[in-house]
Amino acid sequence: MNTVSDVATLQTALLQHRQAGLRVGFVPTMGFLHEGHLSLIRIAREQCDHLVVSIYVNPLQFGPGEDLDCYPRDTEGDAIKCRAEGVDTLFIPPNLYDPDHSTQVRVSSLTDGLCGADRPGHFDGVTTVVARLFGLVQPTTAVFGEKDYQQLAVIRRMVRDLCMPIDIVGGPLVRDTDGLALSSRNKYLSDSARARALTLHRALFAMRDSTARLAAERLALGRSILDTDGTDYLAIVDPDSLQPIDRIDGPARALVAARIGNTRLIDNIGI
Ligand code: AMP
Repeated sequence: MNTVSDVATLQTALLQHRQAGLRVGFVPTMGFLHEGHLSLIRIAREQCDHLVVSIYVNPLQFGPGEDLDCYPRDTEGDAIKCRAEGVDTLFIPPNLYDPDHSTQVRVSSLTDGLCGADRPGHFDGVTTVVARLFGLVQPTTAVFGEKDYQQLAVIRRMVRDLCMPIDIVGGPLVRDTDGLALSSRNKYLSDSARARALTLHRALFAMRDSTARLAAERLALGRSILDTDGTDYLAIVDPDSLQPIDRIDGPARALVAARIGNTRLIDNIGI
């Protein structure tokens, strides 16, 4: 595995691989890797010849008062995991933007609701960094987790709208043995906070398993299970447009975001 920290070295190395006709796979992350990340790496590994993983805690996607400064990091441990998964290039830039970086990428409408409503500017930060990383890596395929369901939809839309020649693959959400969606931020949870966090997926599972046709009925059921007064949203939406739906007549997605103490968690499930 080649560990690279500067942009020019990355570009030179990847150009050679592309010219040799290799399919370049890419998994962007913010590090502190867990089984959720590794599942995406395995999907990319199967589909590509040269696999690039990036670790970059992107300041642009954090709002004021969010956890940018204390975001968990373990670069050495991450490198060991990447090597074991057969990653070819691990890209860990100390900084990704030129001092006079001036371009923002913004996907409208899909970013208005859900996490976009609670974290203004968050998705602009995500699309700006992902577009820049795509320009650097120029992957054939990039893999993102359904854990961040809205983010996946936003990136698919960006790639479509900007005609980026990249196949976006969504990887299933990976859960811990107790059902909690794996997240780097789970590290912040005390035992009692974790017990409350478990009500997120229990609410979603109950909403999925309900036979009620009306979304309002399933939402009421979910709310009755959620044990947090810090719920940012609990929603049932169309899986593509992310617009709220009233009746369950076909595929739908249930999503939740909640703050447990200072930790904001998200989860979602297909209905
Ligand atoms: P992050 O490091 O949190 O920016 O996540 C990097 C990628 O890993 C994103 O595409 C996430 O959606 C994905 N990811 C994070 N947690 C999980 C999980 N529990 N299951 C599947 N994918 C995940």
